[in-house]
Amino acid sequence: MIEFLVTPTIYLYVALLGLVLGSFLNLLIYRLPLMLESDLPLSSKKTFNFMQPRSFCPCCKTQLTLFENIPLLSFILLTGKCRHCKQAIGIQYPIVELASVLLSCIAIKQFGLTANGLFAIVFLLGLLALSVIDFNTMTLPDELTLGLLWLGLAFNLFGSFITLEESVLGAMIGYTSLWLVFQLHRLLTNREGMGYGDFKLLAMIGACLGWGVLLPTILIASISASVIGITLLLFGKLKKDSAMPFGPFLALGASICLLWHDQLNNYFFNY
Ligand SMILES: [Zn+2]
Repeated sequence: MIEFLVTPTIYLYVALLGLVLGSFLNLLIYRLPLMLESDLPLSSKKTFNFMQPRSFCPCCKTQLTLFENIPLLSFILLTGKCRHCKQAIGIQYPIVELASVLLSCIAIKQFGLTANGLFAIVFLLGLLALSVIDFNTMTLPDELTLGLLWLGLAFNLFGSFITLEESVLGAMIGYTSLWLVFQLHRLLTNREGMGYGDFKLLAMIGACLGWGVLLPTILIASISASVIGITLLLFGKLKKDSAMPFGPFLALGASICLLWHDQLNNYFFNY
């Protein structure tokens, strides 16, 4: 595989790439759920898509100038407020941009400047977008989960990350395992504990990283979701019967498995 030496200059370029991609993720996170709200197919939406209209303030609808649209820098220069209506700009924007920079650099550190490194960036940023969308809207759009599932199968066709067999089995077992848990939970409690988006998300994770990461991903997701859920309940921030999105926790588990897979293996099986 072609691999370039990762120098500080390369990290700088990767960080800039992460910043640009983070800015696109913010656009995706804000616009995709709105685009999916109407029943029209995405291709026929002429007035509201990823290109049109140009970025605007969600509060006063004023179109943003180039100066107001620079990732991270504009937020700092405008001290987190819209220049026109003085409404606070959501903290989500700089957080997504910063997370995108960090994830891109960590992916390149772990996998080098290789095809696998670039695949890891796409996978991690896809999970980041899905997590924020699930957190905001309690949905995981098929356009992202299934799109990345196909991408994972296609990339692994050449066996550079995992074998095609591991990838196909990952998608199948990923979907079926959560579907079975869902049916069992519904049978026992008469309530739906998860959504179909979660099954598709785990299928996507399996297609990209292979069936071997599914169990540790579910374990990390369940433990972290329980800890956060119980903490929120104790502090009165979550009502007993209200739902909490599970997607961000699956994304956390999958990211940890991708980036620190060897360390996890060493820790749990060699000591
Ligand atoms: Zn405004």
